Amino acid sequence: MTTSATLFEQACRHIPGGVNSPVRAFKGLHRPPVFIERAQGAYLFDVEGKRYVDYVGSWGPMITGHADPDVLGAVRDRLDNGLSFGTPTAIETTMADLICEMIPSIDMVRMVNSGTEATMSAIRLARGFTGRDKIVKFEGNYHGHSDSLLVKAGSGALTHGEPSSPGVPASLAEHTITLAYNDIDAVEACFEEIGNEIACIIVEPVAGNMNCIPPLPGFHETLRRVCTEYGSVLIFDEVMTGFRVALGGAQAHFGIEPDLTCLGKIVGGGMPVGAFGGKREIMEMISPLGPVYQAGTLAGNPLAMAAGIALLTKLREPGFHDALAQRVETLCHGLQERADAAGVDMITQRVGGMFGLFFTGQSRVDNFAQATACDADAFRRFFAAMLDEGVYLAPSAYEAGFMSSAHTPEDIQLTLDAAEKAFAQVHQS
Ligand code: PMP
Repeated sequence: MTTSATLFEQACRHIPGGVNSPVRAFKGLHRPPVFIERAQGAYLFDVEGKRYVDYVGSWGPMITGHADPDVLGAVRDRLDNGLSFGTPTAIETTMADLICEMIPSIDMVRMVNSGTEATMSAIRLARGFTGRDKIVKFEGNYHGHSDSLLVKAGSGALTHGEPSSPGVPASLAEHTITLAYNDIDAVEACFEEIGNEIACIIVEPVAGNMNCIPPLPGFHETLRRVCTEYGSVLIFDEVMTGFRVALGGAQAHFGIEPDLTCLGKIVGGGMPVGAFGGKREIMEMISPLGPVYQAGTLAGNPLAMAAGIALLTKLREPGFHDALAQRVETLCHGLQERADAAGVDMITQRVGGMFGLFFTGQSRVDNFAQATACDADAFRRFFAAMLDEGVYLAPSAYEAGFMSSAHTPEDIQLTLDAAEKAFAQVHQS
């Protein structure tokens, strides 16, 4: 029989670490990663035929579940026309119009192929627009793997113990200032000192790459205020939160208007897509209108646009996000009850369609230091037990969990039953 273990062994021969993105490798979990053959709704099916209730959702895009018939249908309808033309197509305008309508702070938008490209381009644009080099980011926030942003990063970089990567020139990294997430005083002090040299702040409006950490009251308001005062560009990296924590993203949820927004994941419906957009006066600096260069051979790919538009359109059904948030709440409450009953120190945090589990005795987790102080061994035991029970959580204590509208009350019940057994194992060891 084909097993994940044999496939992983074969993969390791010619793919570094057997994976095309590090966090997939289950590093430190003492088992080979699960190789998936197909997915449907809330479920993944591995090559051995085992079914899992999935809380990763391809790391975010699958907000209506896997293999959504409307998304697949939209792709199928366009397939026979050809895969890519390298010319303008009408569907790109449909996508741009849709994004600008759904996220009012975006006047103009450019499509790219990944979240990394979106944030990398937004940073270049902010630097070009302001004529300044320095950028501010927050410890444990992950914005993709471009050089300027791979300094004290979260996600796989953190899971693999390399938040600041070798290969990033020190002369570039020195322009990246990293502050603690949710530390309002540090932001104010930094801008008082060198605010006039800062091109932009880039922030995950809900941090999802060091588990799930919501902003404290006043944090985003402070970012908005200092950026306005010092002429810096406020960039919300909504690659994860966009269309997930609310229809209009975290900026709609918290009522803050950034200057630029980065998108990814959901905007492509599961295809490789990213986007960045924002204020017209800034976006007009992008070539061919302006001097800041940015381009992409496959950018705005028609199949990717078709998938994204089909998905975004579904999310506009009234009540979609309220129902999703309700599901997340039911799951988190159920998990909390079972952890408490088992005497396991665990808390949950959530915003809209994303959530996190922290193995800690603290009552909340607000930043990188607190997130990394949680019990990673307890997480590993819990993760392994849940996997055995047929529940697929992100294979790292530093990733947010995602739910979809395809998760039924029965799926949640199955998850809670599995958690009851898993918490017992966390406690035993
Ligand atoms: N920004 C955020 C907030 C992300 O979560 C991610 C990826 N998880 C990225 C940027 C990078 O996106 P991609 O992996 O598509 O390059």
